[in-house]
Amino acid sequence: MTKGEKLVFSNGQLVVSDYPIIPFIEGDGIGPEIWQAAKTVFDAAVEKAYQGKRKVVWQEVLAGEKAFNQTGDWLPEETLETIKKHLVAIKGPLTTPIGGGFRSLNVTLRQELDLYICYRPVRYFTGVPSPLKHPEHTDMMIFRENTEDIYAGIEFPAESSDAEKLISYLRTEFGVEKIRFPKTSAIGIKPVSKEGTERLVRGAIEHALKHQRKSVTLVHKGNIMKFTEGGFKKWGYTLAEREFGDQVFTWETYEKVKKELGKTEAEHQLLEAEKAGKLIIKDRIADIFLQDILLHPDKYDVIATLNLNGDYISDALAAQVGGIGIAPGANLNLQTGHGIFEATHGTAPEFAGLNQLNPSSLLLSGALMFEYLGWDAVSRLITESIEQALVNKTVTKDFADQMDQATLLSCSGFGEELVRFIQTT
Ligand code: NAD
Repeated sequence: MTKGEKLVFSNGQLVVSDYPIIPFIEGDGIGPEIWQAAKTVFDAAVEKAYQGKRKVVWQEVLAGEKAFNQTGDWLPEETLETIKKHLVAIKGPLTTPIGGGFRSLNVTLRQELDLYICYRPVRYFTGVPSPLKHPEHTDMMIFRENTEDIYAGIEFPAESSDAEKLISYLRTEFGVEKIRFPKTSAIGIKPVSKEGTERLVRGAIEHALKHQRKSVTLVHKGNIMKFTEGGFKKWGYTLAEREFGDQVFTWETYEKVKKELGKTEAEHQLLEAEKAGKLIIKDRIADIFLQDILLHPDKYDVIATLNLNGDYISDALAAQVGGIGIAPGANLNLQTGHGIFEATHGTAPEFAGLNQLNPSSLLLSGALMFEYLGWDAVSRLITESIEQALVNKTVTKDFADQMDQATLLSCSGFGEELVRFIQTT
């Protein structure tokens, strides 16, 4: 067996050996079957790209039901330690234990490793059934803040002594009289910080510049939540100006020029900035944004947003390109190099063991992972093989049910089809 090596993060860069150890969690429900199919494709793509000179050394780590059955623990300490040590991991979906002391294993993993970016690229794959007339106009990269907002989990049930204490504190110390029904209100706290915003927005802008994208849009509800979501917008713009100066042109600058010199000059400066290839930094209120992505998706490119908005936006965008079952995702900390790449759907327990469902979400997450490792050729092979299978209409049940004259493949059969494409391309 090949002896693998640990990834190293040095001077803000991942250093990847030719035989990196990558921990994987196969996941619950349909997890084991989609993992098997995906792993076969990953290994074939690495072999094709590097002809045996590079190879991933996969190391299984336990989480979810499998971990609970074997160790009595849903998320063993050893799993966290192994992922911390090896920096990058990939996972299938995990059951959320009911009453197990965890809100969600995924949330715990993100919090333990401080994975502050939830990255979701959303694009259309030709052939995927979509509810839109022009799904190909949607091509966005979502950067969702992953550690703050009401997802911090600071909330207290209605009529608990904690809720009573907090409500009474707000009333006596801050004169808050706006809680409509104080005796029966549950209450939650929404922390949004300058540091949290800055590291997220910095990641989004750096990514946009690296990939020569046109714009970054800050999506928020700052019109209503002035200091939390409004703060996100303000800190985002300030960071863009301060750290990226000449490389960007912000809407705040546009507005300032418009006020001082008139609209024609502001439009002129915007056009010049676009011509010069500058990255446009703009913002949008979340509710209008959700309308706009349906009506004018081509106006948007890279998106930076808070945790709850990002949750809704990710699924809405994935749905409009028909990709809710195949959308990939990554949770990243760009300051430590840690990254967990994951299927974004759940465990689909009613299909477990049937070898029927689509491994593409995990496969495309793997493609993101290989790109993150700098193995771009592998990433391309995986993505191209899926594109080809869709064009050929050789697909799993979820797509076959919605396509005319499709060839129905099992989950493992779909994996084999991709391997065939990779080997013969
Ligand atoms: P789900 O995503 O598991 O299933 C909903 C439906 O989506 C399925 O019935 C199936 O029709 C379809 N689907 C899911 N995966 C598919 C695939 N790979 N190919 C084709 N179709 C697919 O959502 P759920 O039923 O709400 O959740 C089941 C369990 O999964 C719960 O325990 C939930 O907490 C957990 N979950 C985990 C994650 C994660 O680990 N990232 C995400 C969501 C839900």
